[in-house]
Amino acid sequence: MSSYPNTADAAAQTLDDAPCQPLAVLGREVEVPLVSGEKVVYAALDYAASAPALQRVWDDVAAYAPYYGSVHRGAGYLSQLSTDLFEQSRATVADFLDLREDDQVVFTRATTDSLNLLAGAVPADTRVYAFETEHHASLLPWRGRGLDVHYLRAPRSPEQAVAALEAALAESGQGPKLVCVTGASNVTGEIWPVRELAETAHRHGARIVLDAAQLAPHHPVSVRELDVDWVAFSGHKLYAPFGAGVLAGRGDWLDAAEPYLAGGGASRTVAREADGSVAVEWHRGPARHEAGSPNVIGAYAIASACRALREAGFDSLVARERQLIARLRAGLAAIPEVRVLTLFGEDHPRVGVLSFVVRGWNSSHFSAALSAEYGIGVRDGLFCAHPLVRTLLGGEQSEPSECGAPEASLPGERSLNAIRVSFGAGTPDEHVDRFVAAVRELVTQGAQWAYRTEGGRCVPDTRR
Ligand code: PLP
Repeated sequence: MSSYPNTADAAAQTLDDAPCQPLAVLGREVEVPLVSGEKVVYAALDYAASAPALQRVWDDVAAYAPYYGSVHRGAGYLSQLSTDLFEQSRATVADFLDLREDDQVVFTRATTDSLNLLAGAVPADTRVYAFETEHHASLLPWRGRGLDVHYLRAPRSPEQAVAALEAALAESGQGPKLVCVTGASNVTGEIWPVRELAETAHRHGARIVLDAAQLAPHHPVSVRELDVDWVAFSGHKLYAPFGAGVLAGRGDWLDAAEPYLAGGGASRTVAREADGSVAVEWHRGPARHEAGSPNVIGAYAIASACRALREAGFDSLVARERQLIARLRAGLAAIPEVRVLTLFGEDHPRVGVLSFVVRGWNSSHFSAALSAEYGIGVRDGLFCAHPLVRTLLGGEQSEPSECGAPEASLPGERSLNAIRVSFGAGTPDEHVDRFVAAVRELVTQGAQWAYRTEGGRCVPDTRR
């Protein structure tokens, strides 16, 4: 049966499939040094930022690499082969996303790129609606383009989210409208009621784009079933870290827009006019927004990951991930100092992403100790979703930090940011167990090392 999670009552769903084994990923045996000088196998628990490559993806890319050639611009055998592979990859992605007949797949650099591309193609005067809980990639691209952007307050339940959109659209009037929503939060991992939001949007004549950066690696995404107009995701979060992403969906706004990048590949013909100017006829279809030499390895890697996930069986992957989530939640629930951040309630269905704070600890200090003393890689900060994390932390204000440069501060200072643990198809049970044991030990025994702030990060103080 389907494991489709994207409804407000996803909690009621059951799964017939048995969990599978973790999929083989690169780096699963990599050892990292601890501050003590020992070495341990790295526990990669930051999949939500970038997931390790599937071994299968790596093998496929390695097998293709000797045949690498230019795409859409070469008469030679390897150029033809690479062009075929690129276009087949598009078809594989279309299949993976269960696209409609007329939908397009545009290869981009990642989700941020995809949503910026779409923002540039939205008709002038479009009203855009996004919840303030979005990742900055889906919160910010609409600004500064003459669009009428409306940010909806953080809802506290899926029903509230649908009701808030309903209310906003009810007074939106005529003209083009676009709703942007995330499928699964990069902070809480909670799954959003995408199908209900799409139904609401369409009833009011609005279109909807799904940010599936965190959903697609964990759950099947059917554009037909969800009835969204576009979907965006990143290869590097889908076990295919070769610099490509996807924007897929309706072609009309994309075909009517100026090309995302002007250049070769996007242009069908270019001619010098009598007055000395240059006239361009742009392609329609995906090529219009793929100017320059396409990233065939990135596209092929995404297609390989799509095939690998499909073949492993999404139901089994979901079942396995749910077991890991249950293990993690039970472990953390037994540590009273840990507070899990949640918008919709701790029992709401989520993907393998969970953020928390630890009473009495600065999150940067805690994450640094997990890395330096246990070889566990998590993330701390505001996770490029500043309004959401601040809401979840209880409105405590901190200075804005650059993404990837969290406000590190010395141990003992007030915690202004959070810790995020995330995992996926390649995570062994042992990593989750090791993580829970390390959190418990740090909370009960404290860090074994002194830490200081250096270059904006909390690091062990080895100056002795
Ligand atoms: N949307 C969500 C929900 C994300 O979690 C992220 C990245 O963490 C993005 C968008 C942006 O993805 P990328 O950095 O691959 O462009």
